[in-house]
Amino acid sequence: MSIENLRKYQQPGVWVYCQACDRCYMTGEEREVDDALWCAYEDCELGDSYDAVEWIIMRRHYPELPEKPERDVQYKPGYEEAL
Ligand SMILES: [Zn+2]
Repeated sequence: MSIENLRKYQQPGVWVYCQACDRCYMTGEEREVDDALWCAYEDCELGDSYDAVEWIIMRRHYPELPEKPERDVQYKPGYEEAL
């Protein structure tokens, strides 16, 4: 999928969870690397934004997660507190 199509497909301003670095960012903040959209965190090397999970869906599986995630906090699903 092209970056333009990805951007169209994703609503901006939605919290998503990066499964590679366990952190959250908002859609629209992804980095463009080699014609793909990547996790917003520059030190995240494996975070293809395609694998990001909407926070709302994360919370459906892990209700103990906070309603609104914080930036730069690593959330390990299944744990009560961010690590
Ligand atoms: Zn990441």
